[in-house]
Amino acid sequence: MSMLTIGGHDIRPGEAIKINLPVAKLYTDTDVSLPVYIVRSKKPGPTIFVSAAVHGDELNGIEVIRRLINMKRFKITSGTFIAIPMVNVYGVVNQSRYLPDRRDLNRSFPGSAKGSLAARLAHTFIKEIVAHCDYGIDLHTGAIHRSNLPQIRADLADEETLELAKIFGAPVLLHSNVLDGSLREAAVRNGTKVLLYEAGEALRFDEFSIRVGIKGIVNVLQHLKMLQKSRERKRKNEHYIAYSSGWVRANASGVVSHYFELGDRVKKGDILAEIGSPIGETLNKVKANKGGVIIGKQNIPLVQQGEAMYHIAFFKEHDEQVSERIGSLEEQTNAEDHEELL
Ligand SMILES: [Zn+2]
Repeated sequence: MSMLTIGGHDIRPGEAIKINLPVAKLYTDTDVSLPVYIVRSKKPGPTIFVSAAVHGDELNGIEVIRRLINMKRFKITSGTFIAIPMVNVYGVVNQSRYLPDRRDLNRSFPGSAKGSLAARLAHTFIKEIVAHCDYGIDLHTGAIHRSNLPQIRADLADEETLELAKIFGAPVLLHSNVLDGSLREAAVRNGTKVLLYEAGEALRFDEFSIRVGIKGIVNVLQHLKMLQKSRERKRKNEHYIAYSSGWVRANASGVVSHYFELGDRVKKGDILAEIGSPIGETLNKVKANKGGVIIGKQNIPLVQQGEAMYHIAFFKEHDEQVSERIGSLEEQTNAEDHEELL
């Protein structure tokens, strides 16, 4: 099995180490580095990365990685597992989605060694981490004050990616084409199969999102034979695939009364919310323009006209089934003990 070198450190089969991957200093002359945790089995196998906080204010993924690698039964049985819990480390320091140069790291890949701060960080990440990997799971949340129902976004036209997406076991799979400059685009060009997990909202931990995330990574690692299954579980892993989605936007500016929540099924014409004036008049009703399941929602009860309020996924299957499945998964996931996930 070949030697793996990351940030000038040689990592041998059978080793588990934490390294600090240096990136540009702060102007305070403070060194900055990305914490990277690497586990290599003695037995050859695939290499996978799990990354979080490419957007620095998206914290759920950090907690997913922390809990995952602390699980007693987290023993990599083949291949190499690489965790990078804080990719946009500058954004994490500032509790911001962006880098200090106001760029979005997820639009700056593959980057370059002599480019902007964002481009340099992207370049380091591709060269030191992604270049070694067959697979990747990139953990995200909704933007600030916006919540996402746990969902996998991936190129579902690719057979193996679709299979992994199903195995992850999030309630909803959403086909999405790669965005220019995203980590996913650069990784796919490298030949790495990537799942993007979206769940919860920025700057918050959401327990359901964290648990579905941990379980999803465990499912994928077990499928790749990198983690042992401790016992066979006959659990139906139903998945609902959406090939399209759309936003419902505010048709007035005002104070919002929400009538629907994440995971709810809506029919065309349902009144999702009412927008009212500060003195209690109803200004407008916000209706669903197509039936589906709510997978994203704005949380601030104030809107301006045109603002995105609900993200609705459209399914070929019956929406009721999707919605019921989400409800039962939530109950089941919340009742489970962490160690039972393996
Ligand atoms: Zn994100």
